[in-house]
Amino acid sequence: MLSEHGHEIPPRSGTAFELRKGQTLRVIDVRGEQVADLLAFSRSDIHEVISSGRTLDYASRIYLTTGDLLYSNRSTVMLEITADEVGRHDFLLTPCSKDTFRIIYGDTDPHRGCFGNLAAALEPYGVTEDMIPIAFNCFMNVPVDGETGELRVDPPRSKAGESVSFLAHQDLIIGLTACSALQSNNGSFKPIAYEISS
Ligand SMILES: [Zn+2]
Repeated sequence: MLSEHGHEIPPRSGTAFELRKGQTLRVIDVRGEQVADLLAFSRSDIHEVISSGRTLDYASRIYLTTGDLLYSNRSTVMLEITADEVGRHDFLLTPCSKDTFRIIYGDTDPHRGCFGNLAAALEPYGVTEDMIPIAFNCFMNVPVDGETGELRVDPPRSKAGESVSFLAHQDLIIGLTACSALQSNNGSFKPIAYEISS
């Protein structure tokens, strides 16, 4: 779907597309306070995938922003954050799923969440559910208590129209969602937009 910002991902859905080396992906929070889960797989080998563990290890920080590199499970750079109007994203938590909604929210007939949306969007590229790792959660606001390590999920700090940009360091398959979890998005589901520039 096309919008003034390029492509638009409707609320509680997801998509997948190719991003070539040297291209920049800009993820835009169109209305504000909306999370977008981002996954990256190597175009040349789908088993090489974005890695929270590698990335946070090498950054020695859990909050990433402009200038930070996102690594794969094989320790090659997949993406570089080149611009960031928000400055708070999460790279600790897995994509929301049926099980998230069952376990945390007590839903008896849960939505498939970002996990199900990503699995469906990435299936044509050969990605199966068990290959889906922790996503880079654009705009997700997860404060951590420095002593106890206790996590909270707070409303995103993003305002309408703010964005974060990623430069591809290799040819990639990208999965991207408009997140489906109420708590992550301050209680309502909004669209996400994205644009690709060379
Ligand atoms: Zn989600």
